[in-house]
Amino acid sequence: MLDRRRMVTGSGAMAAALALPTRGARAAESDVQVDVIVIGAGAAGLAAAHDLRAAGRKAIVLEARGRVGGRAFTDTSLGPAYDAGAMFIHWAERNPWVQIARELGVETQNEPWGGGFQVFANGRPMAETDRLKRRGAFGQIDRRLETVDLTKHDLSVRDLLGDLGPDMSQIASSGLLLSIGEESDRISARDYQRLWAGDDLVVPSGYGNLVARHGAGLDIRLNQPVSEIRWDGPDVAVTTPSGTLHASACIVTVPVGVLKAGAIRFTPELPARNRDALAGLGMGALTKIALKVEGNRFGIAPGMSFLEAGSPGQLMNLDLFPDDKDIVIAYCGGDHARALSVAGTEAARAYVTELLTKMLGSDVRKAVTGISFPAWWTDPYSRGSYSVCLPGRETARDQLAEPIGGRIFIAGEATAGGGAMTVGGATLAGRAAAAAVARIKA
Ligand SMILES: Cc1cc2nc3c(=O)[nH]c(=O)nc-3n(C[C@H](O)[C@H](O)[C@H](O)COP(=O)(O)OP(=O)(O)OC[C@H]3O[C@@H](n4cnc5c(N)ncnc54)[C@H](O)[C@@H]3O)c2cc1C
Repeated sequence: MLDRRRMVTGSGAMAAALALPTRGARAAESDVQVDVIVIGAGAAGLAAAHDLRAAGRKAIVLEARGRVGGRAFTDTSLGPAYDAGAMFIHWAERNPWVQIARELGVETQNEPWGGGFQVFANGRPMAETDRLKRRGAFGQIDRRLETVDLTKHDLSVRDLLGDLGPDMSQIASSGLLLSIGEESDRISARDYQRLWAGDDLVVPSGYGNLVARHGAGLDIRLNQPVSEIRWDGPDVAVTTPSGTLHASACIVTVPVGVLKAGAIRFTPELPARNRDALAGLGMGALTKIALKVEGNRFGIAPGMSFLEAGSPGQLMNLDLFPDDKDIVIAYCGGDHARALSVAGTEAARAYVTELLTKMLGSDVRKAVTGISFPAWWTDPYSRGSYSVCLPGRETARDQLAEPIGGRIFIAGEATAGGGAMTVGGATLAGRAAAAAVARIKA
């Protein structure tokens, strides 16, 4: 079992890129009247558009990028495919993607464990005494959640672990960098506690590819970054590079990071309740850096994982040659991932290559022939990996979803309650928003 409350490790998935049966950018469409506008063609937006169609409504989806899927993205730029964003179908027992995959004839599998695991400190195998000291540290959070009373007031996860002492507390919370992607003092313990748990599945042909395929048949307009939403008139007016579209209702599924950055101007501004909700949410920075490593396997069995844990704040997991592919995928999160994202692709390549060189020897340098680094933290259309509730702000997710003027609905992983931070949660949130819109008269 592996879920959002546990560390992210394991290999990426493989797939050929799929041609998307969607419509590209259109010629200028000034002041066009449509029924419902959905902003964002990620899991939430696609779910909303499907359900609106099923309810007999006509929805168009406006997407800023030139592709469908948002933070679910199977990257083939290195040759072998891997999921650069979402990879696991979390809490599979109730995740709608199990059914969607089945309907599309896409295979899902249990998470492939068993490739082996080794712990390092500064690129050298960690001393046995240090390893034993660390053993069980990551489990301390769940143990505290079972015993500490959070009913009266919320705590940060760091405070939850306070009695472990500074050293152990730092080690225990460092696992969150690879699951939540955030530093423990910025995570609400109550919100963390309510995240759903369950079994995880993977999609061998790529979770990103599966999500993109789900967009087939919908009216999706690519390369249409929305810059303004006006809701002071008789309808909702949405501004894109191709002109302004008017609709009776609008579902906004862009990530919280995009809303917080003010990339979409609301006129009039968002109501105080929604602005306050945004202030209570942040974006984590779970980051994957994939290196193409060719011509040498360094005696490593495919699927092996290395955990670099010399400095807890810079915890990094490396999946080596997953599914026998010529790639190594490094994962990190929190401020360390933010710094690498800002430093850029070449700096990230040098950082991971040097770490691998310490672990495997200097031949690594000539074996590394490429990098893929979709830095979600600096990406203008995501601004982070997924939403995180700040301590004391665990109501922010529900508050963000409160309807605006009775016709604008914010939906996406951030509003998914216990399903937050996941593709499945985004889908459920998109469906809930579609149901609310379907109740409004066209
Ligand atoms: C590295 C990483 C690993 C992850 N691992 C997992 C995992 O294993 N399992 C899991 O379930 N989840 C995982 N997630 C989280 C998951 O990817 C997200 O929760 C989910 O994809 C969010 O879906 P969404 O529809 O809410 O948002 P998005 O997928 O972000 O969709 C929003 C869309 O809005 C578009 N957009 C942004 N700005 C504008 C604009 N101005 N105008 C128009 N469109 C705009 C974006 O381009 C995007 O396509 C991971 C995420 C990352 C980054």
